[in-house]
Amino acid sequence: MAQCQGTTRKGDRCKRDAREGSAFCAIHQDQEIRARSEPTDSGEWDRDAIVKAAIGFALVGVILFWGLRR
Ligand SMILES: [Zn+2]
Repeated sequence: MAQCQGTTRKGDRCKRDAREGSAFCAIHQDQEIRARSEPTDSGEWDRDAIVKAAIGFALVGVILFWGLRR
């Protein structure tokens, strides 16, 4: 059994044994979920939102450009 990778509320390394197939104990499972999901999820959402915003601005720009020229 490996040692839990979680940190206590005091900021110390948890001294419990990690659960089987996990790097965290039952108490620090939420830290594992946060460590796994937050960086990739928010990164993908941000990239997606930026691409959609860029396409939207480009379309509005093209429409305004042609509208002003005529
Ligand atoms: Zn722990």
